Parts: sequence; C-alpha cells; structure tokens
Amino acid sequence: MPIPNGLTWSLRKIWHNREVFLQAYGVDQFVQAGKFRIQKMYKFLHPVGAQVGWKRLIYNSHASPKSTFIMWLAVQNRLATKDRLIRWQLNIDGTCGLCQLESESLEHLFFSCSYSKEIWRQVLLYLGVTRTVLPWHDEVQIAVKKSRSKQKKACKYSIAFIESVYCIWLQRNSKIAVKAWSPKDFMRSYSENPKAFTLASGQMFS
Ligand SMILES: [Zn+2]
Repeated sequence: MPIPNGLTWSLRKIWHNREVFLQAYGVDQFVQAGKFRIQKMYKFLHPVGAQVGWKRLIYNSHASPKSTFIMWLAVQNRLATKDRLIRWQLNIDGTCGLCQLESESLEHLFFSCSYSKEIWRQVLLYLGVTRTVLPWHDEVQIAVKKSRSKQKKACKYSIAFIESVYCIWLQRNSKIAVKAWSPKDFMRSYSENPKAFTLASGQMFS
C-alpha cells in the first residue's frame, strides 16, 4: 500500500517498516510465549551481516566532523538522494543533480556519475593511486581497509575519501540551486588544503 501523503518523516519510516513486516509474513514472528519481543524485531530490521564493516571508517576518521557525519549517512544509504525522496512520495525530478543525465541514487552519485567519477579519479591520482574508479560498495571496502592501517599514507587516503564524498554531496546540493565547481576547481582547492577545501566549496555558494 503506498505511503499516505502528509505523514511526517518518522511516520513514513514506520509505515515503510509496516510494509516490510507484511511482506515478511507479518509481525507474529516476533511474538514469543504470547509476548511481543522488540529485540527480535530489531534484529530482523538490522541483520548482523549488514552491520559493522564501515564502522571503523567512521570511528577512526581523521577527517572533519561534518564530512564524517555525511559519510556516516552515506554508508547507511540515508542521504536524501532523489531516488529516496521519490520513494517517500515527493513529486520531484529524479535526474542527478550533478550530471543531469541519469537517475540520482547513492550508487550513481558515488561514483557512477561522470562528474563525481572524474573528481574521485583525480583525487586518487593526487594520492598516487592509478586505478579505475570502482562502484560505491567497492570503494567503501577499500577505504575501510585503509582506515584499519596506522600508516600515514593509508590515513591520508581515508581522509581524502571521506572529504571527497562530502565535497561531492555539497556540490550536488549546490548545483541544484546554482552551478558546481569543475573537477579542476576541486583539485586546486584540494591541493592547497585537503581539509579546508570542503569548507571552501561550501562557502563558494553561500
Ligand atoms: Zn550524475
């Protein structure tokens, strides 16, 4: 059943989970000895395999708090990308805010989008990494591995990954209203000060 109009964000989430339960044979599965077990329901909604991996990337982060927060949302697919907004019944254009060519989703923004792919490719080059830009989940896995290392180079890599995702997200938000930096602008800002460039990119449009 579609989510009714006019619900708040939290009610929409509850409604969405109701649909999940109905498709998974109802809520009776969480009843044990005549009592509803909320712990069973929580485990159902948060399967063990879906957890952890990325946590080290967040908790070991040396990137700025703002960037780390956006990364925390991104690894859980909680950024308000257009595909999610449309799923929440918002009547909007679903085209990517950066390339304006394809449908916007987390996986598209990071890094199937030609715009963000070029940015991350150039940041990788700056870090001395020459390889193809991979899909989001593969890039996250690489960054998670780097975040486990204490080596300076690995630490620099994790920071660059988190700051780049934040920066791309800021640009996506900005481009919806104004216009975005070119990949060259990004690299100029980044090479001057990797931590400050996200701030600068945000101020450019304020
Ligand atoms: Zn795009």
